[in-house]
Amino acid sequence: MFVKENGPKCSCGGYGHLEAIASAQAISSAMIGLSVEHPETEEAIRRVTGARAERITAEQVFRLAAEGDNVAQGIIQDVHTYLGIALANIVHLINPGLIILGGQVAQAGDLLIKPLQARIHDLCLAAASSSLRLVQGSLGSEANIVGAVTLALQDIE
Ligand SMILES: [Zn+2]
Repeated sequence: MFVKENGPKCSCGGYGHLEAIASAQAISSAMIGLSVEHPETEEAIRRVTGARAERITAEQVFRLAAEGDNVAQGIIQDVHTYLGIALANIVHLINPGLIILGGQVAQAGDLLIKPLQARIHDLCLAAASSSLRLVQGSLGSEANIVGAVTLALQDIE
């Protein structure tokens, strides 16, 4: 989904797509890339990854943002902003009663869900968002694999 004019390059080759800003891969890459010019952030990454910076997870970036790391806060603010825009558009299009966020980014739990909820309520018509619930999926980071297997099993029956 396109969300940002002149946004970062996406793995598909396009620019400004939601995946290039709010996917687990994008969050980790942004954190590693931006830390090069911020020694305190580099140090924080070393601390939480046991000096294996390349292993930093999106959830850890959310935690560092909550702990006050400026670089992490900038990245997570963009995640909330653009994921909020994308979800608000979906809410206005199909008016769902429930949105379940799964995958690695959703592992951040309330650090993702709470600010996102506030943003969606700000952006949406009250009638569209008042009865909307936004929750973390219970299938963890394996949700898409479980979904794919479920679809395949339905084909077999
Ligand atoms: Zn793309």
